Amino acid sequence: MWQTLEPGAGTRPSDRSIEITDVRVMGLRGNPKGEDDHYVWGIVVVETDTDHYGIGETFRGIEPLDAVERIGDTVVGANPLDPERIADLLAREHYTATGGIGRAAIAAIETACWDLKGKVLGVPVYELLGGKYRDRVRLYSDTEALAGDSVGIDLEAEYTPEAYAEAAGEAVDMGFGALKFDLDVPTPGRRNEDRAARRLDNEGIEHKVALVEAVREEVGYDVDLGMDLHWSYTVETAVTLGRRLERFDLAFLEDPVHPEKLDAQARVKRAVDIPVLTGENLTSASAFRDALDADIVDLAAPDVAMCGGLGELRRIAAFCDAYGVPLAPHNLGSPVATVAGAHLGASIPNFYSLEFRGGDAPWWESLVERTGENGPVVAEGHLDVPEGPGLGIEFTDEASEHVAEGWEYVL
Ligand code: MG
Repeated sequence: MWQTLEPGAGTRPSDRSIEITDVRVMGLRGNPKGEDDHYVWGIVVVETDTDHYGIGETFRGIEPLDAVERIGDTVVGANPLDPERIADLLAREHYTATGGIGRAAIAAIETACWDLKGKVLGVPVYELLGGKYRDRVRLYSDTEALAGDSVGIDLEAEYTPEAYAEAAGEAVDMGFGALKFDLDVPTPGRRNEDRAARRLDNEGIEHKVALVEAVREEVGYDVDLGMDLHWSYTVETAVTLGRRLERFDLAFLEDPVHPEKLDAQARVKRAVDIPVLTGENLTSASAFRDALDADIVDLAAPDVAMCGGLGELRRIAAFCDAYGVPLAPHNLGSPVATVAGAHLGASIPNFYSLEFRGGDAPWWESLVERTGENGPVVAEGHLDVPEGPGLGIEFTDEASEHVAEGWEYVL
């Protein structure tokens, strides 16, 4: 007998009769970028012929959001209870969507379908992904040493040991037990440093060593500390720098060389006694399998909003588990992508920590609230996995005040 679908009612239509009617997108004001600019968090809303809708997030920036607008019509009429089939359909129908921006667009639609499915069945997404290994997911803070001033590498800025120590202390005070800093920052007084050459001289090396030393002096050795090199260096520079950093007992050195240069990264990994974290640019299970085969990965960092969705993330996690590699998913997202990553992180055994980049966007927490639960989304460096249906979060009224310029609020 046909049952009406009430949000979170735990009912299931015997004929699975639910159809996608529209895919809508909106940009929210994301992390600051320079003084008056900001990144855009790309939110996707999948609507159906019932009262249920699902939310997902694509990788930051307007290009993936544009891609969602272009490919969204493909899934109108499809059944959102089949998220992985929908991701597959999108990849096949839009052959150009199999890499980069396309995979990010698919990820958002696929995630929104998991959210929808959970709401229809009245269960949290982690339950759909196989259940959970843990109730709370540890976050690591992607920490800026130029807080409030800039995001990303600012070639005009001076990166000092004092600023690194101060930012690290603040993150630890907020409850984070794991931190990451960018280390491929300009050497002071070297505005004309030839970054294309991807090489550091001794002064450049000493500067980076001093930054790490200052952080360790500030927070001690009980805090997990990672350093991101953003594939900025040659093998010999990465090895020289990496060896100098071994004494700081780092949790990981991220992307020392370009991830497509498998043999180059393998040489760094063999030569340096620090775990190598990589994978934010790899967007499929097969790409991760190649990286694992090439032995370039100690910690894998697929991006929740970039790798085609939670189904592909689970396949990536399974490959990594077979190679004894834990996941530290890359994430620069709003609460939507972050919570999606937490459901995934809860549902796999080989989980290390999920990246969190809300520290420099004070409105991050105010965008959503837990469905049927109290409490903030993030507290004490952890995310308690929501127990509400779907992702278990909904946008607050305040979210509409943070729509990015040029977009309309669609909820
Ligand atoms: Mg990175």
